[in-house]
This record gives sequence, C-alpha cells and structure tokens, in this order.
Amino acid sequence: MSKKTTAGSEVDSWCTKCKLDLGHRIIAMEGDVIKRVECLTCKGHHNYRRPKSAEPLVRSRTRRAPTVAQKRAAEKAALEAQQLRWEAAVAGTAAKDFTAYRITEAFEPEQLVRHKKFGDGLVTDVLQDGKIRVLFGEGLKLLVHCR
Ligand SMILES: [Zn+2]
Repeated sequence: MSKKTTAGSEVDSWCTKCKLDLGHRIIAMEGDVIKRVECLTCKGHHNYRRPKSAEPLVRSRTRRAPTVAQKRAAEKAALEAQQLRWEAAVAGTAAKDFTAYRITEAFEPEQLVRHKKFGDGLVTDVLQDGKIRVLFGEGLKLLVHCR
C-alpha cells in the first residue's frame, strides 16, 4: 500500500505551533510508531500528532448518532400520524357507523370496526389472504375476515 515510513520520510501531522495539518519530516520512530517530527513550515520539533483531518473514528461516530435519532424521530412521527388518522376516523362517529367485528364479516378499506378487545378501529387495508389491517387506538392490528 504505502511505502514504509522511516525517520527522514515525510508525513502529514498536526503542527502544534502552526495549528495546522502540515507536511512534517520524521525525526524519530519507535518501531512502526512515529514519535517526533519536524515541521517543514516552521522547522519546529514536536511529538507526532495525527492530522486533525484524519480522525475517521470520531467523525463516523458523530455522523452515526443523528442517524439513529432521525430514525427514532421518523418512527415517532409515523406513529403520531397513525394516531391522528385514527382520531380523525373515529371523531364524531356514532355507534351505528361501526360494524361489529366478526371473522365471518367481509370488511372493506375505510370501514369502521368495533372490536371487543381493541375497541374502535378503521380498516386500512384488505389483504389477499383473508386478512385485514385495522388501525385501533393502540395501533395497527392484523385480523382475519371473510371466514
Ligand atoms: Zn509548524
């Protein structure tokens, strides 16, 4: 990959005097580890410091953190939208607007359902295999129908 770094070769390092990532000449090595460098710009000698622009570990961590937060926010927003949809669907409805849930009943999308356990719900999808997706106050449930 890269040619072996030895004392005398040039390397990018953070210059503690110039406060910049600059080209440095290695003046001391300890095994494969760069110990001391000479700044090619200010000629100052100091311990080797990784360039500030090359700190991928720190940066990827800070970049990943908001992604998780964004995902949670998106999930929360989706749940809130679901909740709002359910509230809008059941708001101002009368008992006669609901069809009591029975597995023998055939339901259609947007139909209001009253379920013994889950309460008032709105059919959001009618699935191929005799199942319906119903939005209740506590969330989406998969129920069977047309049996
Ligand atoms: Zn310098």
